[in-house]
Amino acid sequence: MPALAPSKIVCVGRNYAAHAKELGNEVPKQPLLFLKPPSSLVRSGESIRLPAVSKRVEYEGEIGVVVGERLRKVSPDVARAALVSICAVNDVTARDLQKSDVQFTRAKGFDTFCPVGALGPVPIDLASLRIRTLVNGEVRQDGTAADMVFDIPVLVAYISGVMTLEPGDLVLTGTPAGVGTLSAGDVVEVEIAGVSAVSNPVISEP
Ligand code: MG
Repeated sequence: MPALAPSKIVCVGRNYAAHAKELGNEVPKQPLLFLKPPSSLVRSGESIRLPAVSKRVEYEGEIGVVVGERLRKVSPDVARAALVSICAVNDVTARDLQKSDVQFTRAKGFDTFCPVGALGPVPIDLASLRIRTLVNGEVRQDGTAADMVFDIPVLVAYISGVMTLEPGDLVLTGTPAGVGTLSAGDVVEVEIAGVSAVSNPVISEP
């Protein structure tokens, strides 16, 4: 497996209409961006630790994309050509803190809040990518990239107009409908069929 050591993890919020609606939000007119710190990364099999300060931690299964070149103010076509890997990612979120803080940094940034699966190949048809999340073996989210408000090349191009993307940077492309809470003892899996998967047990913060 190639090493994953992004200089930054750039995330997109509300990129599936049904998910925006389930949280009572409008679909944004432009991509809604936020960052997760690289210190939140964990691999498959490592534990997600529920911080004591949150009473409501949720999973968000997402399609992650890794860029292989420095990208600055590029077109969607150039962004598309620069994608080198696809990976299953869980954008773990302290939903109560996300609401109370307004800024997403704390809610999205705890250690272990970014489980990432093995880096898989980039398919020719990005829209065919299917993303599912299972909790204790039960399917909770099931969507495809075809349902995105802004498609992957458009997202990466848009981000590159804000901040230079470096080789190895990771972009999280939003979560489909069906987000829900995690409890200690759960096992949560995010899988992109035939490409990548990440599975993590959930524990209370020691
Ligand atoms: Mg998300």
